[in-house]
Amino acid sequence: MTAQLLDGRGLAQRIEATLRDEVQTFAEMFQRRPRLVVVLVGDLAASASYVKSKAAAAARVGIDAEVIPVPVTADTSELVALVQAIARDEHGPADGILVQLPLPPHVDTVAVLDAVPPDRDVDGFHPENAGLLSQGRPRFIPCTAAGVQRMLIDAGIETAGRHAVIVGRSDIVGKPLALLLAARSPAGTNGGDATVTICHSRSSDLPAITRQADILVAAVGRPRLITADMVKPGATVIDVGINRVAGKLVGDVDFEAVRTVAGWISPVPGGVGPLTVAVLLCNTVLAAELRLGRR
Ligand code: NDP
Repeated sequence: MTAQLLDGRGLAQRIEATLRDEVQTFAEMFQRRPRLVVVLVGDLAASASYVKSKAAAAARVGIDAEVIPVPVTADTSELVALVQAIARDEHGPADGILVQLPLPPHVDTVAVLDAVPPDRDVDGFHPENAGLLSQGRPRFIPCTAAGVQRMLIDAGIETAGRHAVIVGRSDIVGKPLALLLAARSPAGTNGGDATVTICHSRSSDLPAITRQADILVAAVGRPRLITADMVKPGATVIDVGINRVAGKLVGDVDFEAVRTVAGWISPVPGGVGPLTVAVLLCNTVLAAELRLGRR
């Protein structure tokens, strides 16, 4: 068997095409474009590259994006003050505010993220948005988790009643994705009602659990953690991981081996990554529309 490819890049392009029209309508109605302000602390190459691709994607759909670079020496109170100033629109209208992670180790990341007003929190990390998601009435959903769900829905992969195993329990990927897939889906819709198992570094006998998965999501950050013998034949395997190995981007899944066992598989690059960015753009337009009372 050779798995069918889950083409995240293609889906992201289709999402962008729809957004372009929505942004156009917004701009005609309000005489300005939705605007995203990104705080980039320090000079980590990976963070700079993610921010660059987010700003480029924003430009493609007509969203104004401003990146505010901050020296790595900035401390927690300076960053909180900066986020508060952005929220007062002192850096221009800020419909969406995003603080690129990771922050340097001396910074209290939670304090900085909590300073982002929940109605501008396009990353969906604020406790208010996490709480709304856990109650099944999401507003801003963390972008990667929403991207994985969209990938499943777009490919027509049924989630109801299926066993989804998520490896990784972070607040930004594993946990929100588990909530999304386990949520009650409105009648006639797909993307929820799965039976969800969350695994982490303390899970014992990981292969025995992953082999039960109809849908297996790897969100760990370890190259080749998921090998072919850990996958049920015909399963859907979604690789969230991004690792740099010998100058190349690879995921958490041993792609070449697993594609001979799985029914569907997402590649790295070209899988979940572009969808994360596409959902960020959707969240930014949503934030702008909410702010101006269009929703
Ligand atoms: P975190 O480091 O926050 O979380 C990793 C999770 O993996 C933790 O829950 C950890 O367990 C678990 N874990 C670590 N080792 C093992 C193991 N041997 N077996 C089982 N579980 C293990 O990472 P993130 O959630 O932020 O990101 C995960 C990956 O996804 C990274 O590669 C990141 O770069 C990538 N990523 C990709 C995005 C995209 O757009 N494609 C967006 C965001 C992230 P424990 O909790 O016990 O420590």
